[in-house]
Amino acid sequence: MEVTIIGGGLAGVEAAYQLARRGYGVTLFEMRPHRSTPAHTTPYLSELVCSNSLKSNEISNAHGLIKEELRRLGSLLIRVADETSIPGGKALVVDRKTFSQRITESIKNNPFIRLIREEALDIPSGVVIIATGPLTSDAFSKKIKEITGEENLFFYDAISPIIDSTSIDMSKAFYGARYMERKEDYINCPLTEDEYNIFYDELIRAKQVPVRGFDTIPYFEGCLPIEVLAGRGKETLLYGPMKPVGLKDIQSQKRPYAVLQLRREDETGSMYNMVGFQTRLTYTEQERVFRLIPALRRAVFFRYGSVHRNTYINSPLLLNNGLQLLRDIRIFFAGQITGVEGYVESIAMGLIAGISVDKYLQKKPFIPPPEHTCIGALLKYITTVRHNFQPMNINFGLIKNYSKKEKASVVTHALESIAKWKKMMDDSSINRRSRLS
Ligand SMILES: Cc1cc2nc3c(=O)[nH]c(=O)nc-3n(C[C@H](O)[C@H](O)[C@H](O)COP(=O)(O)OP(=O)(O)OC[C@H]3O[C@@H](n4cnc5c(N)ncnc54)[C@H](O)[C@@H]3O)c2cc1C
Repeated sequence: MEVTIIGGGLAGVEAAYQLARRGYGVTLFEMRPHRSTPAHTTPYLSELVCSNSLKSNEISNAHGLIKEELRRLGSLLIRVADETSIPGGKALVVDRKTFSQRITESIKNNPFIRLIREEALDIPSGVVIIATGPLTSDAFSKKIKEITGEENLFFYDAISPIIDSTSIDMSKAFYGARYMERKEDYINCPLTEDEYNIFYDELIRAKQVPVRGFDTIPYFEGCLPIEVLAGRGKETLLYGPMKPVGLKDIQSQKRPYAVLQLRREDETGSMYNMVGFQTRLTYTEQERVFRLIPALRRAVFFRYGSVHRNTYINSPLLLNNGLQLLRDIRIFFAGQITGVEGYVESIAMGLIAGISVDKYLQKKPFIPPPEHTCIGALLKYITTVRHNFQPMNINFGLIKNYSKKEKASVVTHALESIAKWKKMMDDSSINRRSRLS
């Protein structure tokens, strides 16, 4: 049985490896070097387009825990990352060239994988995994649009930071939607005039991520980065995302001078989104400037804000929990295009797509990893969050029943569960490879 994978990035290669090790023949299309994206610069598979850090390696951190889960599931990319790592403190930092070179060699030498250096212009027949990433070629984007519907394919991200609710200083904030005092969907973070002035001055001179050729986004007026709005004048934010109308501070019983509203992001209220604060500030500047808002002095950022080009689909509407297209079940999606954000998250969704295709071809049910594992929680998020779906990094706020106080047992439980899930998936698999050899 043959599977075609389009896109030899992080997700496509992980999916190809997972299928090959289960004995399937894989045809992997990668358009580089004949046609490149605006961000890739080498001919190698699985190129890291920006940072050479795969973030924290500590299992007490969600980024570290998801890597450990991937290790235990036999991820090729995390294994090569470990082998090519260089000193980077608590983070898994790799020698980017050796990392991609070694992966390319391993795929080229894999007898089950045929690598074709060609841009896919159409969706082939048979079982297909689409893993063309945030910078999917224009011609292929049109094809994806045909199978998903124009309204379900997005081309850029303008996302606001998400805060760990336990890090919000509630002695300096209050609940309530505009004109509705007791509504708990929002937390309001008030600023006095002096506090606002300090915040504003730092915001307009904060460092931004440099604009690159591929990131010249035509900003939509309704979705302008907070610093761009601020640049239009000191009052602009007071009539926009920081307007205080309809809000009364519980303590002073007065309308604040300015307010940042935080909107609840999940059912349990563990994550709150900074409403209207999409931004291009660097991550360090987001921490520095946004912590000037009194209620956020000790804010922990689950996700940083960003505005960049990103092709992704409306997964909650289009995919089932095995990343399979509901409208045409022979087609699967993997990687950043499914609405995850980040290198390791993309690898995880490549691994899941590979296992899901295996189950589909064996006519066995695909059971997703439990929601209290990082991979299971991320998969659940991208396939179920219907309201205002936006790309997401892994963070503990996604994990079912996460409790900061009991982090150690959450971690142990996740790792035990991923091991059990692996066994369950392996047990229900016919090992085609051993049959073939
Ligand atoms: C500019 C930029 C910087 C980023 N920086 C970071 C960062 O520092 N840290 C982080 O964690 N995440 C970062 N990301 C987010 C994301 O994690 C990476 O983009 C990641 O590489 C996504 O993995 P992927 O496999 O989904 O896509 P990719 O790794 O981009 O792989 C997709 C592959 O598909 C190929 N392709 C596209 N169209 C076709 C076609 N029609 N036919 C054949 N091949 C095709 C591409 O050439 C590419 O090789 C960044 C994203 C962008 C756009």
